[in-house]
Amino acid sequence: MPQGQCRLCGVESNLQLSHILPAFVFRWLRESSGNGYLRFGSSPNLRVQDGLKRHWLCVSCEGLLGRSETDFSAKLFYPFTSDGSNRIIYGEWLLHFCVSVSWRVLQFFKDETSLKGYEPDAVSRIAEADATGRHFC
Ligand SMILES: [Zn+2]
Repeated sequence: MPQGQCRLCGVESNLQLSHILPAFVFRWLRESSGNGYLRFGSSPNLRVQDGLKRHWLCVSCEGLLGRSETDFSAKLFYPFTSDGSNRIIYGEWLLHFCVSVSWRVLQFFKDETSLKGYEPDAVSRIAEADATGRHFC
């Protein structure tokens, strides 16, 4: 397991291999795909069984984000996708989950693009969004 600085809390630690988008989404996609495989738009001819993962978080932060993921999947995702529900009881978990997913997607795009081609003003807004997301999570 690689050592490094956790992107969320900044502590040097063993970095967990975690999904950028939550694992339950890919589990559900596999189960509903008919053949157990997925295809991504970036490489449509390649069959895959899981989503992208990165070593970004310490075990504590991984657990922190995992709590709102668990709430989201149990209280919203599966009731809507499997049980035909159309109502939820809102809780803080929903905003936390949405911000954490947005923050992880931002980390991915920062890594993939190194923010090349973005205007300085955009880069500073991205840094602001990154810090806001990190503090909120
Ligand atoms: Zn951490």
